Amino acid sequence: MGSKSLKMIDSMFKSYKIEKRFGKKIKSFEPGGIVFEDDSILSSDLTIFIPASAGHTVLKNSDIPLTEAGFIKIDESCLVTGTENVYAAGDIAAIEGPEWKAKQGHIAELMGKQAAYNIIMKESGSSKRKSYKEHINILCIMDTGNGAAFVFRNGKRAFAIPMPWLGHLVKRGWGQYAQLTKRGIIPRFPGL
Ligand SMILES: Cc1cc2nc3c(=O)[nH]c(=O)nc-3n(C[C@H](O)[C@H](O)[C@H](O)COP(=O)(O)OP(=O)(O)OC[C@H]3O[C@@H](n4cnc5c(N)ncnc54)[C@H](O)[C@@H]3O)c2cc1C
Repeated sequence: MGSKSLKMIDSMFKSYKIEKRFGKKIKSFEPGGIVFEDDSILSSDLTIFIPASAGHTVLKNSDIPLTEAGFIKIDESCLVTGTENVYAAGDIAAIEGPEWKAKQGHIAELMGKQAAYNIIMKESGSSKRKSYKEHINILCIMDTGNGAAFVFRNGKRAFAIPMPWLGHLVKRGWGQYAQLTKRGIIPRFPGL
């Protein structure tokens, strides 16, 4: 997210009394919290664990080429490494890019669209290909229930903007818009 954005998010966390732990391995999950390698405890009423560094177990039993972390190796056209007609898009694939790269919903969608385009091009004998790499950015509205923070980063800029009360409505509105347009109930604005 960039150092400026992290500072803002840090103060946001503090205002919500959200504690953080960095650089410590998790030892175990207990009913009342999370225990770290140094036996320190982060108390919690509800623990949700998102294993960002482990691929899907289904892949482990396949012959699909995987990174050490267990994500599918692809080239920038989303073609699975070492194959001629297998494509992978979204979180399941290992994406390449700057060190701040993040797997996000809009990147997954873009990869899906580009994989479809690249399949059509290949099948029609064209050498044209689209790459997901140049579109990597971070674009996120972090909803806090009574507001939000807008976070953006690309190769040139990185910032976070607090959006008191309005941010929550924007995020909710976006959710409704995304659902209704995906289901074809209302048309999409071009490019959005
Ligand atoms: C807490 C959280 C917040 C996030 N916030 C944002 C955000 O604000 N903006 C943003 O852009 N991105 C956000 N993301 C990231 C975004 O959700 C993902 O990048 C995106 O959903 C990836 O889409 P996908 O289709 O690749 O995978 P998924 O959305 O994970 O879809 C995979 C699907 O496969 C199904 N599946 C799994 N195993 C099997 C199986 N064996 N057989 C059949 N089906 C199976 C799953 O049920 C799931 O429906 C967030 C992610 C998390 C976890």
